[in-house]
Amino acid sequence: MTHDFSNLRVDFPTLDQHVGGHPLVYLDNAATTQKPRAVIDAIARYYERDNSNVHRGLHALSMRATDGYEAARARTAKFINAADPAEIVFTRGTTEAVNLVALSWGRANLKAGDVILCTEMEHHSNMVPWQLIAQQTGATVRYIPVVGENAEGGLDLEAADELLTPEVKVLAVTHISNTLGCENPIKDLCAKARAVGAISVIDGAQSAGHELVDVQDLGCDFFAFSGHKMAAPTGIGALYGRKALLDAMPPWQGGGGMIANVTFEGSTWKPSPERFEAGTPNVADAIGLHAAMDYLDGLGRPAISRHESELAMMACEALSELPGIRILGPRPGEHRAGTVSFAFADVHAHDVVTFADQDGVALRGGHHCNQPLMRKLGLPSTTRASFYVYNTPEDVDALVKSMRKILKFFGA
Ligand code: PMP
Repeated sequence: MTHDFSNLRVDFPTLDQHVGGHPLVYLDNAATTQKPRAVIDAIARYYERDNSNVHRGLHALSMRATDGYEAARARTAKFINAADPAEIVFTRGTTEAVNLVALSWGRANLKAGDVILCTEMEHHSNMVPWQLIAQQTGATVRYIPVVGENAEGGLDLEAADELLTPEVKVLAVTHISNTLGCENPIKDLCAKARAVGAISVIDGAQSAGHELVDVQDLGCDFFAFSGHKMAAPTGIGALYGRKALLDAMPPWQGGGGMIANVTFEGSTWKPSPERFEAGTPNVADAIGLHAAMDYLDGLGRPAISRHESELAMMACEALSELPGIRILGPRPGEHRAGTVSFAFADVHAHDVVTFADQDGVALRGGHHCNQPLMRKLGLPSTTRASFYVYNTPEDVDALVKSMRKILKFFGA
């Protein structure tokens, strides 16, 4: 049975408000999503009943906190079909997860002459950590180009084949672009990376929680995502890593919880995932993440991705009729994930977002942490509308109506 997405707003307390005298239409989901009552309650319940430090206590609360934290790890493994909960390292989010791989795996394995292959559509958080580690190790970062003046052709896969030489040691690529709204052929790219002996690091910030993700089927070595972009709290995310790789990697941060034995002379490490979780972890938000995964699977992720995609395609088609608009990524009528970025010839994105806010429509304007991509496309910024489970066709209408009003105001 397909879930009814027409009134999920009632599950999300923040959506029950007016902005500028209008009911809030929240279309900034690629930046962060709202949280359902079930997640807020799970966090409150933890602080009200179980709050304690994990792993180091033998009293009742510590054991309950530990059980909750480890259950969240097992749930996360199941959510992305990892073979073993030990392949899940909790992090603050995608950014921290990518930095972990770059600093641990990268520092141990990269050297001068090696190549890190990114793409031109990477978010800064799957680009800058690689630039930093390249500077430190002498490796070089190269980029798979995007095709078309609005990047409507997605990644240039022929160029990718040429760039995937034996010098490539890391392929770092996003699953779904946060600006273009396109989905990349990850399974194919991971297989090609493996064939040249490179590891694959997938940025799943825009895909986990939006569609079914099966890391074993994708064949990736690492997969990073953020809880806050999928109905869970900020400050929690995860890195999936293949066990053999994680176990061979050195720690990237030192402290409590990650050691096997410490002497004045030196220390030894626990296996993964503890090796990579120095210090007191974010127990409450891991428990919130668990609740979010249950909520999303209650709706069904295939239905979620269909719903978001339908709304984004509807928006893309309606917006394409406005004068002087440039829409990035897939063309109107073509399949896209739940994000639409666009630019008007005569109105700056920051004006668009400020005016839309007065209509109660929350959008994002800027470079969306894709500065090099924007520069290549000759745009200082775009306006981005991004959809999630609680959005409806009425929200698309409110967006388009607000955009028409803005264009009229600016005489465009
Ligand atoms: N990658 C992509 C594709 C994103 O959209 C984002 C968030 N905008 C990130 C990475 C970074 O996620 P976080 O800030 O949660 O670490």
